[in-house]
Amino acid sequence: MSKPFCKKCLLDELNEDDYIRSLKDYISSYPQEKRCSENEYHKRLNICMKCEHLSNAMCALCGCYVELRALKREMYCPDFKDRWKDD
Ligand code: SF4
Repeated sequence: MSKPFCKKCLLDELNEDDYIRSLKDYISSYPQEKRCSENEYHKRLNICMKCEHLSNAMCALCGCYVELRALKREMYCPDFKDRWKDD
């Protein structure tokens, strides 16, 4: 059985599998009313996946996990604000 995720741990103390599982749980349980649409979410992530600032699931400009940042309706790309907007 895995250890519960500890919000106060440092990276050295974390079990990587538990940490990733916790992030995925957070994404799946994020409130529907605060999420962007599924189409918008995938569009944002596709842009991130082609971006030179994406590294190990994180944006090198803001330090966010892009799957968390892109999920939130009001968020925008830190490189330039309209990058995730429709053409
Ligand atoms: S949030 Fe913007 S700068 Fe960061 S990886 Fe995604 S597209 Fe690139």
